Amino acid sequence: ADRYQFHDYYLVDDLFEDYHRMARQSVRDWVKAEVSPIIEDAAMRGKCPTHLFKGLAEVGAFGPSLPVEYGGGGMDEIAYGVIMQELERCDSGLRSMASVQGSLVMYPIYKYATEEIKQKYLPKLGSGDYIGCFGLTEPNAGSNPGGMLTNIVDDGDAYILNGAKMWITNSPIADLAVVWAKDEEGKVRGMVVDADSPGFSAPEIHGKWSLRASITGELVFDNVRVPKENVFPDIRGLRGPLSCLSKARYGIAWGAIGAALDCYDSALRYGLEREQFGKPIAGFQLQQKKLAEMITEITKAQLLAWRLGTLANRGEATPAQISMAKRNNVHMALEVAREARQIHGGMGITHEYPIMRHMMNLETVLTYEGTHDVHLLITGHDITGINAFG
Ligand code: FAD
Repeated sequence: ADRYQFHDYYLVDDLFEDYHRMARQSVRDWVKAEVSPIIEDAAMRGKCPTHLFKGLAEVGAFGPSLPVEYGGGGMDEIAYGVIMQELERCDSGLRSMASVQGSLVMYPIYKYATEEIKQKYLPKLGSGDYIGCFGLTEPNAGSNPGGMLTNIVDDGDAYILNGAKMWITNSPIADLAVVWAKDEEGKVRGMVVDADSPGFSAPEIHGKWSLRASITGELVFDNVRVPKENVFPDIRGLRGPLSCLSKARYGIAWGAIGAALDCYDSALRYGLEREQFGKPIAGFQLQQKKLAEMITEITKAQLLAWRLGTLANRGEATPAQISMAKRNNVHMALEVAREARQIHGGMGITHEYPIMRHMMNLETVLTYEGTHDVHLLITGHDITGINAFG
């Protein structure tokens, strides 16, 4: 029997279609065979298992809800969600590899690039032949991307790109980057930049205690020539990058539940096996409180994600609704990981169990794609109409 089926406390699976469950199963089987055996070691060594990009493509993890003719999976938003959940059940870094490729690279190219550029890049991104990255954050512009300094200047048949990006997932191994930069009027523009362009470099950021199986770097542009056809013609301002972030945040709202489920699963089994004072520790009220709270919060998050998915399928999920789900579900997962860590006692800090890795990963997930606090301010703005950011 599938041990995870018992963690679907409210039978949320009944709300899914058969093809959602099938998509999830094929990802689950692949993760079990190819990733689970190596993930702890990759995270310990801080090495991104780049050979997995091809497998991620094969199980349909890149752009599950994008059209097939543009390299996607042709499925709906719930399929996208359950696939992200399955990846993050293994590791948030694994899910990040897929989120960036599908939602932050393929999606903006699909949505904003010319047909010619779509045909040039999307099939190879969908098949994992190309790896992409998304450059928005800068050393001095994180939560406030409007403060970016990276810029483009018109130079006839091309733009000249200058500036630097920071904390960019996949950048050191990327073949191309979707980059956001200000034009001469100060408007944010998006563009596809080939990594082999002269003046382009992507040094790796070392020393992370989180997302250690996912590679992170900078992007440095020193007079990089970007052909004009690579610049998205019609989109101006932060609306462009924010639409991509909505897509990715939606996937994170689902994904984080996967990390929580893995921690809960491990804590429940450990609690039933480990004996102290002559009985399983799961028999003590304090430990039952932890486990009961975990499955309650997981169940609430599953329903939130499912409802968000049905709204997204109708094209009605608002950015503020996505913010609420991202914030709630990631925070929930981090709390579950912290409680699960305690249930495992000393064993909880080792790589014998996935807990500490999930916990450290989730610290990044809490911060990237809009921090925990920023998402609260988005809800605050939405319900009061008053912007408390500036
Ligand atoms: P800051 O914006 O400096 O925030 C610091 C603290 O101040 C936070 O707690 C924040 O909530 C708080 N704060 C900020 N503004 C306000 C306010 N108005 N009111 C109250 N509190 C506020 N970016 C990309 O573009 N592409 C990527 O692929 C990518 N991958 C990443 C991978 C990793 C491993 C990490 C760690 C980050 C990644 N990021 C990426 C960047 C990420 O999105 C930023 O770290 C995030 O947006 C926060 O920006 P910051 O780190 O500059 O923090």
